[in-house]
Amino acid sequence: MSTMAPKAMYGVNKPLLPDLERYGKYLAQAHERAWLTNFGPLQQELTDRLEARLGVENLLLVANGSLALHLAYRVFGMDDPVLTTPFSFVATASTLAWEGKALRFGDIDPRSFNLSLPNNDLDEPIGGVVAVHVYGNPCDVEAIEHFGKERRIPIIYDAAHCMGSTYDGESVLRWGDAATLSFHATKVFHTVEGGAIVFRRKEDLAKAKQLMNFGLDGSGRMTDPGTNMKMSEYHAAAGLVLLEDFDEVLSHRRELKALYQDILRDWVEFQVWHERGEDNAAYMPILASTSRECVALETALSERGIGTRRYFFPSLNRLPFLGAGVSCPVSEDISSRILCLPLYADLQPADVRIIAEEVKGALTDLRR
Ligand SMILES: *Cc1c(COP(=O)(O)O)cnc(C)c1O
Repeated sequence: MSTMAPKAMYGVNKPLLPDLERYGKYLAQAHERAWLTNFGPLQQELTDRLEARLGVENLLLVANGSLALHLAYRVFGMDDPVLTTPFSFVATASTLAWEGKALRFGDIDPRSFNLSLPNNDLDEPIGGVVAVHVYGNPCDVEAIEHFGKERRIPIIYDAAHCMGSTYDGESVLRWGDAATLSFHATKVFHTVEGGAIVFRRKEDLAKAKQLMNFGLDGSGRMTDPGTNMKMSEYHAAAGLVLLEDFDEVLSHRRELKALYQDILRDWVEFQVWHERGEDNAAYMPILASTSRECVALETALSERGIGTRRYFFPSLNRLPFLGAGVSCPVSEDISSRILCLPLYADLQPADVRIIAEEVKGALTDLRR
C-alpha cells in the first residue's frame, strides 16, 4: 500500500540554514569593523551567549569538533593508555591515535550505549578516560567522576551531540575536566564548521587558548609549540543566528522523536535514556533485531526514498589502524544493528508518520 504513495525523498539529515537577513546583519558588523577572525567580537558574543545558555564557564570556541578533541587531549597530556569507547563516531578515537595516545577500548552498556567502566582491577595504568555521551545520552557521570578521582586521571567527554542535553536539569557539559562539542552543519546546533570545549578549570582554558593560537601567551611570549584552531567571525555569525532559534528547534525535534518512538515502539528497540537526563533529540537511532535485518532495512528504506545511516558502524575496536584485536561484544552487536532515521528541524510530524509507516512496512516484508 505505502509503496503506491508518491515518493517523498528524505535524506537522513538536512542542515538547518541560518536566516539570511539576520546573518547579513551580523556580517555587516564584521565588515564595518573589518575584523574577520582572531578572537573578534562575534566570536566573543557567541562564547558569552553559549555560556549563558548552557550555564557553564570556561567555554572556548574552536574551528571544528575534531580539533576540540585534539586540543583537550593536548591540555591533559595522558601518557598512559586512554580508556575510551568503541561505540562512537571515528573522530573520538582517531584524534587520540593522531595525538600518539595508546587506546584501551572498554565495552559499552547494551541499554545506554555508553562506555561501561571496567569493574575488575585493571592490569595496566590508565592515563585518562575519554567517554562519549552517545546521541546526547548522559554517561554515568558520577561513577566516571569517582573513577577519575580515585586514579587521579582526567575525564574528557566527547559531548559532540550534547547541545540541549541535560543531567539533573543542568547541561551535561558541566561534567568532566573537559567536554567537547561539535558545531558541524549536521549537528543539532551548528556554526557550519565549528566546535567548543568547556573546561572545568580556568588554568586549563588559559593553556588551551595559548595552544590554539600558535602558542602565543597573552603578552606575545612563546613557551610551547602551538597551532591555529580559531573560529572565524563568519562562522560565529552563523552560530549567533542559529542560537536565537535553538530552543524552538529543540522542542520541535523532541516532538518529532517522541512521535517516532510512539509509532515504532513495538517494532524496534531504542536506546534507553538516562533517567536523570532529558533527551535533546539529536538523533533517531533504532535497533533492528539482527545485523542482517539492519542491512536489509537500510536497502529497503533507500528504495522507498528514505535515507538512513548506520551510525556508528563499525565498532571502532574493529578498525586495524586503531589497534584492532580486543573484543567488545556489546559494542559490536549494537553497531551491527543500529540505524539512524531522518531527524532534522525541517521535518514535520506528517513526514515522521510517513517515514515510520515505511519502516513498519519494510520490516513487515522482511519478517514475513
Ligand atoms: C561529529 C562528531 C565529531 C567530530 O566533529 P567535527 O566538528 O565534525 O570535527 C566527534 N565526535 C563525535 C561523537 C561526533 O559525532
